[in-house]
Amino acid sequence: YVGLPEQEAFDIEYWLLEEAKLQRMPKPKPMVGKVALVTGGAGGIGQAIARRMLADGGCVVLADIDQEALDSVSAELAKAHGRDHVRGVRCDVTDEASVIAAFDRAAIEFGGVDILVSNAGIASAAPIEETTLALWMRNQSILATGYFLVGREAFKQMKAQGTGGSIVMIASKNGMVASAQATAYCAAKAAEIQLSRSFALEGAPLGIRSNVVNPDAVIRGSKIWTGKWSEERAAANKISEQDLEAFYRDRSMLKRSVFPEDIAEATYFFAAEHLSAKSTGNILNVDAGNLAAFTR
Ligand code: NAD
Repeated sequence: YVGLPEQEAFDIEYWLLEEAKLQRMPKPKPMVGKVALVTGGAGGIGQAIARRMLADGGCVVLADIDQEALDSVSAELAKAHGRDHVRGVRCDVTDEASVIAAFDRAAIEFGGVDILVSNAGIASAAPIEETTLALWMRNQSILATGYFLVGREAFKQMKAQGTGGSIVMIASKNGMVASAQATAYCAAKAAEIQLSRSFALEGAPLGIRSNVVNPDAVIRGSKIWTGKWSEERAAANKISEQDLEAFYRDRSMLKRSVFPEDIAEATYFFAAEHLSAKSTGNILNVDAGNLAAFTR
């Protein structure tokens, strides 16, 4: 440290050594002993969330309707984080019995659930006049009703355990603002946000928190962006499907794409008691600034 007074050079040396020691120390694992049930856990955002919980020592129950994807994602996560930390449960969030069975399984395997991430979803695009009752009902049953059913069962289990808990609902930017040709989806996503506030209100005296994470378009790694949805989104925005990610990135305030890992990090914040014990009934938009201002 040429030119520095001797004491200052010593201080810097000291802190560099301390820093090196900290780097070598095992990292704290705040999720040890916590169990998270993640619906849609075999999908793009769900598996990123599961990975984030597992990385910090948590246990995860992946609940998903897609048995094949569930088997492969559970096997991959179990290999990386230990078989005793991961369970895959086939569950249809629109079916009350199936949802109850998933929570029963979590209780048997891990003794209960501390964290619910309600995330299972679909996407559909249709102009208002072409939104059939069947399409409307499908959106409401998987999104609004599905989020209610898993939320209610988590609430019951957390209340019975008596140790509080955290519910995180993965809604959407479309719960706040409309997008073209997404009437049924927008209405259902808005319902999820109000649902979360109701859970926050009734849960507060029990130490059960409920918060929302709103993703903007997460294209890479997401199954709902493949096929008809992205095709119709691209058509609605008059660009090619290949250019969708660049389109969403370039119109955002930060000029950055949102990835499943970004949603996982925001979800982790609300899930973790040590980070967000004082936050309930809240919404965190992970949207690269899209909802804050009209940028294009
Ligand atoms: P994805 O398609 O990759 O994953 C969704 C998962 O939900 C799939 O594994 C699917 O099998 C499962 N699922 C569907 N119906 C189900 C049912 N009835 N019961 C149980 N599981 C069911 O999609 P994703 O991008 O990971 O989306 C996850 C959540 O994030 C959804 O609620 C979606 O609306 C929301 N979201 C996504 C985006 C995005 O751009 N990807 C944007 C905003 C909000």
